[in-house]
Amino acid sequence: MNSRQEERDRHRQLIKEREKAGPLVFPKEFNECPNCGSLRRFCVEALKDSKDDKSIPILGSMELDVLPPGKLQPIKLQALTDVCVNCGTVYAVVLVKREIKAPPLVQPAPNGHTGLELPGRQ
Ligand SMILES: [Zn+2]
Repeated sequence: MNSRQEERDRHRQLIKEREKAGPLVFPKEFNECPNCGSLRRFCVEALKDSKDDKSIPILGSMELDVLPPGKLQPIKLQALTDVCVNCGTVYAVVLVKREIKAPPLVQPAPNGHTGLELPGRQ
């Protein structure tokens, strides 16, 4: 077995051990490329000379609003992605899961009235 294969096996074993440790906690961040282990990301590297380096943008975002079976509260699942500048792999930098505030049960009509006005009031 070559050293690269041994390294992959060791990495997979570490992942299995981490998964046994407990439930996932969101947001979940990934600090390195899952393919080569590089810490260098496209957006960070491309904007290194920027004066405002506090807010590094993210290259992509995929999201899904879903109502889990048996639940009343919809949730948003979001994956923020960037690209490894070493090997070109597109990968998730942050995984987010959060509840979506449900819309109010009574929506205002386009004219601003709720339809719930008491009789005799305007
Ligand atoms: Zn990489």
